[in-house]
Amino acid sequence: MKNFSPSYSPHQGYKPPDLYEYFVDNFWFETTDLVDKKINVPLRGSHKADIVIIGGGYTGLSAAYNIHKQFPDKKIMILEGACCGYGASGRNGGFCTATAMLDESCKKDHDARQKCIKVSTHGISQIKEVMDKYGLDCDFEENGMLDVVFDEKQAKTLEAECRNLKEWGLTSSFIQGQVLQDEIKSSRCIAGLNTAHGATINPAKLARGMKKVVEGLDVEIREKSVVIRIIPGKTHHIHTELGEVKAPDIVLATNAYSHKIDFFKNRVFPMCTFAVATEPLTSSQMESIGWQNRQGISDRRMLFNYSILSKDNRIVIGGSDFLYYANDGLSSGNNMTVTNKIIKDLHKTFPSLRDIKIEHAWGGSTAGSIGYTPSIGVMGEHNNIYYGVGFSEGVPVTQTAGKIIADLMAGKQNEFTTHSFVNRNIPYAGPRFLRSMFGTLAKWYLVNIIRGGGH
Ligand SMILES: Cc1cc2nc3c(=O)[nH]c(=O)nc-3n(C[C@H](O)[C@H](O)[C@H](O)COP(=O)(O)OP(=O)(O)OC[C@H]3O[C@@H](n4cnc5c(N)ncnc54)[C@H](O)[C@@H]3O)c2cc1C
Repeated sequence: MKNFSPSYSPHQGYKPPDLYEYFVDNFWFETTDLVDKKINVPLRGSHKADIVIIGGGYTGLSAAYNIHKQFPDKKIMILEGACCGYGASGRNGGFCTATAMLDESCKKDHDARQKCIKVSTHGISQIKEVMDKYGLDCDFEENGMLDVVFDEKQAKTLEAECRNLKEWGLTSSFIQGQVLQDEIKSSRCIAGLNTAHGATINPAKLARGMKKVVEGLDVEIREKSVVIRIIPGKTHHIHTELGEVKAPDIVLATNAYSHKIDFFKNRVFPMCTFAVATEPLTSSQMESIGWQNRQGISDRRMLFNYSILSKDNRIVIGGSDFLYYANDGLSSGNNMTVTNKIIKDLHKTFPSLRDIKIEHAWGGSTAGSIGYTPSIGVMGEHNNIYYGVGFSEGVPVTQTAGKIIADLMAGKQNEFTTHSFVNRNIPYAGPRFLRSMFGTLAKWYLVNIIRGGGH
């Protein structure tokens, strides 16, 4: 079995994995119930469940939501090391692109394309479903996406992409000149791809809101419950620092943290990315930058370059660089060098905001893998270890991953369970000690050759 090498011996002393940073200055956390510390009690003593989900981010919460839909009588338990939404799910840029699961099948024929589009847009549809059915409030705004570029080479790529999307029946337009300036007043941007398919959210509200929704469906959630060891078998034994639970099925929803419990080691690794939030913009500052259609805006220089307007009109902007810490180290929660790059970048895009206050800066760990594509599937000798990992840009994709996991559990054959991400064999990423070096080279190649320079 290629994807995991769990520790078996019950006799060794286990040190809890070194998972959590001391301090995260995350703007989104302040807008949720986390300020009142409404965190559930840890697991203590011995328990049984039908399904144990490890990790209370979007993947774990969506898996719980979808598994409950298909198996309403099963006892589902989520074990979350810190609190639901503590990982990337509560810290991200709130940028939800609906096209992240479009794959080669779109090129086949009309039917294959329609199925793929259905899967790719499912993540946003599911968020809307939960909002409608359960009153979840996550400051959701479905205003589409605007992808901008700073040079002619990138503009050509963008134009070709726009042609593809249109051919596939997705509403999009390639814009330049005054039309672009009407969307966003920045002389830095020379072309843009406007698509109707995308949304922005308050990520922590989505995670904490989903926590409440699944608890309402009788899913048991234990927070402050770090899983320190899993002994796999027909019945799995899952140990936390203070308790134990036995279950015939588990779901691994630990994304960038998976290596800490010996899963997907040297295949999925943490990549640390950072964001800042400005103070709320005044109406004259808003006027100076345009952006009245409030799309999520991204550009093409790096894996993540994204900005959104929060409900109270702050700019939340992230990207500019991402870091790989030696030995698969997790994010420290912040990084001054990258934060300063992001702020510089903000000023370059919107010189009129030179004096704006930056009120929050934070970061977190998301997952990298060769190919930057997630894998969602099932493995293990007894085919009872379900997982969804490798989400680098995963806000809507993780929602869909939860449905895929539930459909796989139910043995369904459909466009979700046959998507190319399902059971993708994540390639070996080389030994850890070489990863920093190769990572630096890969980053240089991405920025300077593929994306055409730092701008
Ligand atoms: C700063 C930042 C900005 C981002 N911006 C965007 C964006 O704008 N758009 C986008 O699409 N994507 C973005 N991403 C990526 C996106 O947030 C992730 O891909 C997605 O949230 C992954 O969700 P997840 O549930 O799989 O993992 P996570 O949200 O990381 O959840 C994993 C959970 O598992 C828990 N856990 C780990 N180990 C254990 C253990 N041993 N025992 C118990 N619990 C454990 C963790 O505490 C954590 O809560 C960003 C990521 C970061 C860090």
